Amino acid sequence: IYVVGEETEYLHFLGRTDHLEDSDFEGALIIAVDTANLNRLGDPRYALGERLIKIDHHIDVAPYGEVSWVDTSAPAVAQMIVEFYQTFQKKLTCPPEAALALYTGILTDTGRFKYAGVSERTFQAVATLYRIGVDAQVVHTVLDTKSEPLVRFKGYILLNYQKTENGVAYIKITEALRQEHGVSMEEASSLVNELGVFEDSPIWVLLAEYEEAIVRARIRSKGPRIDDVANQFEGGGHMRASGANVGTWDKAEDLLNALDARAKEYKAQTTA
Ligand code: AMP
Repeated sequence: IYVVGEETEYLHFLGRTDHLEDSDFEGALIIAVDTANLNRLGDPRYALGERLIKIDHHIDVAPYGEVSWVDTSAPAVAQMIVEFYQTFQKKLTCPPEAALALYTGILTDTGRFKYAGVSERTFQAVATLYRIGVDAQVVHTVLDTKSEPLVRFKGYILLNYQKTENGVAYIKITEALRQEHGVSMEEASSLVNELGVFEDSPIWVLLAEYEEAIVRARIRSKGPRIDDVANQFEGGGHMRASGANVGTWDKAEDLLNALDARAKEYKAQTTA
């Protein structure tokens, strides 16, 4: 079993990806997790494999794989994998390293058990992982440790965010701004939920410029659905947590306008 795809620096404590040759994919069974569309898979060489399975919890707008297991009620694919283990426990073993990775997956995808979708099933999965001997403190310590530039950048966001007329809170992060603050793109975009705290902002967005000046949006909501708006901007995801590759800063304005209209509709519905 090999792991391929993009790495996230703060998750290195769980292990690193394997560097494979194209020939390693020949005859392989590819298991794609947590990825709604084929074109978002971290390694395009999935196409060289023999068989393909999809395991995911996003809305299934672009089905793929000869076996597809999609459960939109699960807050994390890691929870689904633990449930698979629970079902076939007699035939499977779950080593402590795997338990730690699965616990981290559940913890991060649920915002530490905060987001919608967390249920009794989630805590049963966690109980299973605790029984295996997961050391939760290790994960919490990693998640709670931030670089000083990142802490200062958080301060910048809280001082410089803007709001649209109907309360969509947003921050624009250009490449130059990010470099000036000495934070990585991953670190900068991890701050999206700092804007989720306002009473009059049902929607919030972090807009950041990636390589070659491509603007990406991380969109969040605590009321109206936003995935359909993301779909209009080459994006998608969950009803209240979506992303989009908007492209240019001009297009980002179009996205903000569309989200503002959604916030307005929501306000009208909730005050009616
Ligand atoms: P993020 O803001 O990157 O955490 O993404 C939130 C959710 O939206 C995740 O479930 C992503 O898989 C999904 N998502 C982000 N960007 C895109 C995109 N360009 N197309 C489709 N889904 C996306």
